[in-house]
Amino acid sequence: MDDCIIIGGGPAGLTAAIYLARFHLSIRLFDAGDSRAALIPRTHNHAGYPDGISGKDLLARMLEQAEKYGATREQAEVTGLRVIEDGFGVRIGDREIGARAVLLATGVVNNRPEMPSAVHDEALARGFLRYCPICDGYEVTDKGIGVIGTGAHGAREALFLRGFSADITLIAPDAGHDIDQPHAGDLDAGGIRRVDGPCGNYAIEGNRIALDTVEGRLSFDTIYPALGSRIRSQLAVQAGARAADDGCLEVDAHQRTSIPGLFAAGDVAKGLDQISHAMGEAGVAATAIRNMLDAQKPLRR
Ligand SMILES: Cc1cc2nc3c(=O)[nH]c(=O)nc-3n(C[C@H](O)[C@H](O)[C@H](O)COP(=O)(O)OP(=O)(O)OC[C@H]3O[C@@H](n4cnc5c(N)ncnc54)[C@H](O)[C@@H]3O)c2cc1C
Repeated sequence: MDDCIIIGGGPAGLTAAIYLARFHLSIRLFDAGDSRAALIPRTHNHAGYPDGISGKDLLARMLEQAEKYGATREQAEVTGLRVIEDGFGVRIGDREIGARAVLLATGVVNNRPEMPSAVHDEALARGFLRYCPICDGYEVTDKGIGVIGTGAHGAREALFLRGFSADITLIAPDAGHDIDQPHAGDLDAGGIRRVDGPCGNYAIEGNRIALDTVEGRLSFDTIYPALGSRIRSQLAVQAGARAADDGCLEVDAHQRTSIPGLFAAGDVAKGLDQISHAMGEAGVAATAIRNMLDAQKPLRR
């Protein structure tokens, strides 16, 4: 039985792998290979890289660091997780592997506006489409920004971006806007234009991204979808772990879920969806895992 299995090889999972390998523990890391970090053309808010770094390069550097201490990443999707005597059974295809502890670092998936993948990927790579105002609102300072969303979530995203630009348009994705007070008043006070849905037919046109709306074709320097995300917590939830209504796993200050021995870190746990936060949580989780295993059976060399 391994000491720990890490599910997910994004910033959280790889940070945990570095820590746990350096604690001389026997670990495995399974990763399905679609980290949100791999979508980042260049991050400028991640500390330590004054000129920024692409998400793919950051992940490659982290994997190289983990491998230096003996950790390996196996490209595979974990399809089942169950509590067994003294630990967990982790299912990958027709194999079930046992581990005394499990760290879930499976992240989230952003809900995308409806558009062909080729348009989506090019717009993302060229900065016409962005998903994280905390990360890259700075890069669109004083630009024309469209936000696709409505309700409290859409309104909050538009208001957050108002700190970067006066030119914000909030476009409802499907039908008319549904925005309660006080958000509606705040949007009006901030001069944020509201356009009802439906919208669609996205295309890169010149140096802008354009879409059809009920008020005609509009174009922006950049668009932020505010359409929510799917939290990849189902493995833990099916095993009995407690999650919030949105699916984020509930964890304590040591990243412990409600199931003893099962930990969670990164976007899948409730918190700020940021690389730095994912890494910090993973460091806390890895140390808590080490100390839990040591308390069960002293770690000695
Ligand atoms: C376009 C974009 C730009 C961003 N820019 C920034 C930025 O500039 N700065 C910043 O701090 N943050 C940024 N973020 C957010 C950042 O990418 C995430 O907060 C971060 O990647 C979270 O790390 P994580 O390890 O929790 O999850 P992820 O990086 O999403 O990794 C989760 C991993 O788990 C794997 N996985 C999931 N389910 C399974 C399974 N069942 N079996 C095996 N593996 C599984 C996935 O394949 C994936 O590789 C951005 C996000 C996006 C989408």
